[in-house]
Amino acid sequence: MKPHEIKTDVVVVGAGAAGVAAAIAAAREGLGVVLLEKNSFPGGRATASAVGTICGLYLRSFKHEATFVAEGFMKEFAENLQQRSVAKPQSGSNGLYYLPYNPYDFKTVCDELLAKNGIQPYYHSTVFNVETNDEKVVAVEAFVYDRKLKFIADSFIDCSGEASLCFLAGDTVVEEKEYQASAQVFTVENIETSLPESLGFHIARELKRAVNEGKLAPELQWVSIVPDSFRDKSAMLKIGIPLTIDNSDNKATEVELAARKSVNAVFDYLKNNVEAFRNAHISFVATEAGLRTGRRPMGKYTLTETDVLDCRKFDDSIANGAWPVEFWGNDNKVKMDYFAEDDFYQIPERCLKSACFTNLFFAGKNISATEKAIASARVIGTCLQTGWAAGKLATR
Ligand SMILES: Cc1cc2nc3c(=O)[nH]c(=O)nc-3n(C[C@H](O)[C@H](O)[C@H](O)COP(=O)(O)OP(=O)(O)OC[C@H]3O[C@@H](n4cnc5c(N)ncnc54)[C@H](O)[C@@H]3O)c2cc1C
Repeated sequence: MKPHEIKTDVVVVGAGAAGVAAAIAAAREGLGVVLLEKNSFPGGRATASAVGTICGLYLRSFKHEATFVAEGFMKEFAENLQQRSVAKPQSGSNGLYYLPYNPYDFKTVCDELLAKNGIQPYYHSTVFNVETNDEKVVAVEAFVYDRKLKFIADSFIDCSGEASLCFLAGDTVVEEKEYQASAQVFTVENIETSLPESLGFHIARELKRAVNEGKLAPELQWVSIVPDSFRDKSAMLKIGIPLTIDNSDNKATEVELAARKSVNAVFDYLKNNVEAFRNAHISFVATEAGLRTGRRPMGKYTLTETDVLDCRKFDDSIANGAWPVEFWGNDNKVKMDYFAEDDFYQIPERCLKSACFTNLFFAGKNISATEKAIASARVIGTCLQTGWAAGKLATR
């Protein structure tokens, strides 16, 4: 049966930070927008994987308070979230600032901003087919809950995080042999400690001891507290998943299974061996394990690690990147490479433009960038900026 057809101006695939920003940017230009999202809610990794802090909003500085690296929608979004989550920017190590948030508040802010801008998203909607002609994307087909719909538009924006739209369109995509390590966030309640500020160190020490005594597998020791998440005896914990992330079939399911197994093994150890966890319980495990990087499109320009570390500026810049290169190896160890304090790099608009299709753009963690460059540009603050810029590009 022929699917029901819907005509609009812009189709955005993926309602993560980038997709929400892209949809609102296009709507504010007066265009009709269809936002398609396979989950039942917006926010992508920021909500489904409950990452818990927004990075990339503020300049790295030892001299100044948290200062936004760019004006515009990123700032508007952060201020909305800050108000709803009753959160303030926090200073971390090495002059970095971040904004802690409650994942449900992130969803609510997305819902509210989308509604305010006249966008009713299509949740439960998985894009599975793309129609193209020689130089343009013409339509996408999505399975929308229980039916197949076809969306015809003038412009298309891939904010899927995995270059799904580009891949289905036959655009050039880049696949690495291995991607960065993934992690699972979960919430533990009723942690009884008189020193909440040192809980993270306490857990790390106990798990290291367990490994040394042969009571815990070494690959399970990479547990940290999501910064600023300890409230009323409850904390969000993040565990590195002991699995190499590659392109093999059904990898995402393997990651989910390994994530839950790791959470259970570590929590059982803490509960049975660490006093603070004696009466604790797991109240929430983030819906999706967090895959940090994956397939990306190759656009008209590919952002490099050198561009990032040299704070390179571009004439066609559309975003300012403020976060260092935060590279998670598959041993679950992180390597941070910093650029100069009080400075930033720029992302040129060409990183958001398809080299094959004139009306296809991308944003967020799937801009055209190397694996090292995206280790910086994938943070939510930067995704909000590139999303916004892609929405604007679609209106030209
Ligand atoms: C473990 C972990 C920790 C992190 N920590 C931080 C942190 O502390 N601070 C920070 O700023 N960043 C952090 N990040 C990075 C950040 O969360 C993500 O890079 C960012 O949220 C990506 O946003 P996005 O909109 O580009 O993509 P995503 O958030 O991945 O959104 C893509 C959306 O597209 C949807 N989608 C995909 N395919 C389809 C399809 N075919 N049809 C319909 N919908 C589709 C997905 O369901 C998803 O909702 C972390 C990431 C991970 C994994």
